[in-house]
Parts: sequence; C-alpha cells; structure tokens
Amino acid sequence: MGFKSDIEIAQEAKAEDIREIAKKIGLTEDDIELYGKYKAKIDYNVLDRIPNRKGKLILTTAINPTPAGEGKTTTSIGVADALNRLGKNVITALREPSMGPVFGIKGGAAGGGYAQVIPMEDINLHFTGDMHAIGAANNLLAAMLDNHIHQGNSLNINPKRVTWRRCVDMNDRQLRNIVDGLGKKVDGVTREDGFDITVASEIMATFCLSNNIAELKEKLGDIVVAYTYDSKPITARDLKANGAMAAILKDALKPNLVQTLEKTPAIIHGGPFANIAHGCNSIIATKMAMHMSDYVVTEAGFGADLGAEKFLDIKCRKAGIKPDAVIIVATVRALKYNGGVAKDQLNEENLEALEKGLPNLLKHIENITEVYKLPAVVAINRFPMDTEAELELIEKKCNELGVNVALSEVWAKGGEGGEEVAKEVLKLIEEGENNFTYCYEEEESIEEKLNSIATKIYGADGVEYTNDAKKQIKELEDLGFGNLPICVAKTQYSLSDDQTKLGRPTGFKIGVRDLTVSAGAGFIVALTGAIMKMPGLPKKPAAERIDVDEFGKISGLF
Ligand code: ADP
Ligand code: MG
Repeated sequence: MGFKSDIEIAQEAKAEDIREIAKKIGLTEDDIELYGKYKAKIDYNVLDRIPNRKGKLILTTAINPTPAGEGKTTTSIGVADALNRLGKNVITALREPSMGPVFGIKGGAAGGGYAQVIPMEDINLHFTGDMHAIGAANNLLAAMLDNHIHQGNSLNINPKRVTWRRCVDMNDRQLRNIVDGLGKKVDGVTREDGFDITVASEIMATFCLSNNIAELKEKLGDIVVAYTYDSKPITARDLKANGAMAAILKDALKPNLVQTLEKTPAIIHGGPFANIAHGCNSIIATKMAMHMSDYVVTEAGFGADLGAEKFLDIKCRKAGIKPDAVIIVATVRALKYNGGVAKDQLNEENLEALEKGLPNLLKHIENITEVYKLPAVVAINRFPMDTEAELELIEKKCNELGVNVALSEVWAKGGEGGEEVAKEVLKLIEEGENNFTYCYEEEESIEEKLNSIATKIYGADGVEYTNDAKKQIKELEDLGFGNLPICVAKTQYSLSDDQTKLGRPTGFKIGVRDLTVSAGAGFIVALTGAIMKMPGLPKKPAAERIDVDEFGKISGLF
C-alpha cells in the first residue's frame, strides 16, 4: 500500500552508540556489558550507586484484540518518545519477544512503523540469549528430575505425577504431548511428557517476578516438579537443582538496554505471554527503569482482562509498586471485530459495528477506573484505513461518557504523533488521583479469588469447576498454597473463556478445568477453556517469508 515495512524503517534508522544511550540514564561504561554496538546488559548492582529518581509508572493495556495485536508495544514506545520530545526523562520497559509468534502468526514484537525499538532484527530473533538461558534452566531441572528417578528414586517420586515439563522457545505442536525415556533400562524411565513454550514456563514467570538474584535462587528452589507416591510435593530444592539453575540465569537476569528510533532508552527484559502466563516484563527491569528515570512506560500483554489484571494483582503486589496512570489502547479494527465483523472485512468502514463493539472498551475502562481505581486515558491507535467518521465516533462516545481520550498517531509519525496521549498522561499524573486497590486479597480462598476476577473483571456470573478442579483446589489448600494470587490462563479474544463471545458478554460463567501451583513464581495457575501452553504454527507461518542475504541482512520480519 505504499507504506514502508517495519523492518525497512528500522534498518534505515541511524542508531546511537549504546554507550551514549546509557549515559542519558546515568550509567557509565563500567555499569554496562556491551553486546555489540547497540545492545548492552545493565548490571543490577549499579542501583546502589545511582540515586533513585522514583519514576512515575505508566501502564499500557488494551481492549480485547484481534489476532494481529492492537498496538500496545507500538503505543508504549511512541508515548515514551513523545515524553522524550516534551523534555521528560523517560525509559520504556518492555518484554522480550518470543520466537514462537515471530515465526508463527503475529510477526515481530518490537513496535511498528515509526515507533519501534532497534535493532529490531536482533530483538525479535533471540536478542541477547535470555530466552535460551531460561529454557536451559528449565531443562536442567527436567534432566535432574528424570535422572533422579532413573538412579534409584530415593525421594519416592511417582513418575505418573511428574508435573514439570520441558520447554523450547518455538511454536511446535508436535512436542505438546510426547512419550520419552523409550529404549533400554539405561535409557531412562518411560513416561508421558511434553513441552511448553519457554514464555509459558514457570522459570520465565519466576525470573520475571524476582526482585534480585538471591530471591530468584530461593524461588527456583520452591518450584514443585512432582509428587511422591504418597502425594507429597517434590521441589527443585529437594533435587538440589536451584543453585545451578540460578547460575545459568546470572547474565540473563541483567536487563537489556536498547533504544527507540528516536533514541529514547528502552529496557527490554523477560517476556511471559499474558494468556497462559502473567504477561509483563521483569520486576527487575521495571524497578531499574523507575530508579533511573522520571517516567516509565511499560506494557502488559493482550487485553486488560489478562495482562493488566495480572500486572496489577500479581506483579505490583510482588514488586511493591503501583502505576500512576494507565493507557488503554483501542483500535477501530478491534472495536469492529468486537462488534461482530469478520476478520477479512475489518478494513471497511462500518460505523454500526464499531458502535456495537464499544461496550468492550467501556468494560475495560470501568475495570481500570472502578475496580483498580486508577486514572486512565483511552489512546485510539490510528491505522491507515481508519476513516474520520470512525475515529470521531469513538471520540464522541468517550466524551459523552466523560472518559479521557486522545488520538495516537505514533505508528505513522513517531513521538510527535504521541504527544496528545503523553499530555493527557502527564495531566492524570499531576492530578495525582490514585486510590489503587487490588481486585482481590491474597488471604481469600482460591475460589473467592477466582470469583472476584471472574465477576469483577470478566463480567461473569460466577465460576464453574470440573470435579478434578475441585479436588485440586482442596489439595492445594491442604498443602498451604491457598494464599497465593491467581494467574488465569484464558483466551485473549473475549472477556469470557469462550473466544466467540465478543463485545461485552453477559450471562456466562467461567469454566475452570485445572489448577496447578507455580510455587516458585508464587501463584496458582487456573486453566480455563481450551487454552494450551504450547502453541502450533499456522498454515502459512511467518517464517516462510523471513530470510537473510549474503551480507547478513535480514528481511521479512514485517
Ligand atoms: P500489541 O503490543 O498490542 O500486541 P503491537 O504494538 O505489537 O501490538 O502491534 C501489532 C502489529 O500492528 C505490529 O505489526 C505493528 O506494526 C502494527 N501496528 C500497530 N499500530 C499500527 C498502526 N497504527 N497502523 C498500522 N499498523 C500498526
Ligand atoms: Mg506487545
């Protein structure tokens, strides 16, 4: 359509030496470890040396998305660039992309258009190797566990109750359910097993929810990997694995510094999905960014029912932080999708469907402002095919309801296109009206907590449990895990657990079919609907278009 692709824009940009970017946030060359000219890792020990600027935290979330994504990362980057243009000291803190979606359906996750982080090829394609380190720590634990059983099983582990799975950062449905340990006696114990994608692993969650390396090592030790024949949990500590696992992760735990197209510092670190995991970058990265700048713009994955809920109820609680303002990204196409328009017709003007989709946006606004009591602004992320009439309709409806709203044109214009949103955000922060409350309290029972999330956030009438799920709740509470927060695994396409229920569904219950403890990460995972922890590739994977030439230049990454 005459537009430059993301990768073309990114490759045309003249990046600044990363040492100069580091200087902007008070770091010297001794504080960083260079990964080439444009990437560096930041030593977490530097915070003791640098004064704490106590930056304001701005959370970017969204309405229920279409499969292509609605532009939270793009908006976070663009608004950070806008704040930079307005003379503010700002860092954007984002997640590291998983190669699953890069090669699958969604493509890159380093922003888009003129609001990107660079070098986008590196960031999208295993970056500084953190994802592999996390996979290696996960798989070391798996190897030590199976080896323990093979070597005599002194811990009395029931091989039928091994809960720990292997992982790899790839969409590979072939590995979802496997049988391993085949062969002779020396080849291990034969059992059913499977792989999850690395970003859904408990190691990723534990990594992201630890405040420092000592805490990480302790939490890794708490991970429950199996149960004994008499139903006692076995942890990574029982297998003496957590020291070596933390050793593998020592460098990965250092946040990665890069820059936006407009040379705003960006810290990109940790990357759990928000549908099957908790969905936000590491606590260490967010806190480091808040320490070194006056404003931090960060993103939580998918819609506010998933990423923002977990950001607020899980991450903020564990980190002892809270956002000062929330940006809710809405797009014309996602509103039309929520209004019932088929995926292949989202590019045509349709005011009726747009209006029908608006209750989805309103529900997410209510959740942020009324459940969590946080100040919010709606950012309408403008796409090239949006019509004036469509954009006006959203703005008018928001104004009628007294909702703060601003047009965002960061994809087309970079930071300049984000100034309207940035000014709204600054106003909200200045007004300082912030009575942040969680959606539930940790002391409530597992069922009470799930009920709060389902009724307050999803708009459900309640929760239904399978018989298995009921038994699991009892077992988890008996084992003393009842006080942990809940990480719901749910479809991102609907406020409900049924991806076909669009808009603002009512009169439904959430079906919970499986509950497990992530004792290391420190939450209970509740599986709803048909959600899977190992995605597959689509019929035409994005990987088919990705290539590299004889000079090492990459193409096809959107
Ligand atoms: P999210 O973080 O919400 O998943 P992203 O910011 O990654 O979404 O954007 C998803 C995709 O949509 C990216 O490929 C990005 O380039 C594209 N995109 C985002 N905003 C716009 C826009 N305003 N116009 C056109 N494409 C956009
Ligand atoms: Mg994103």
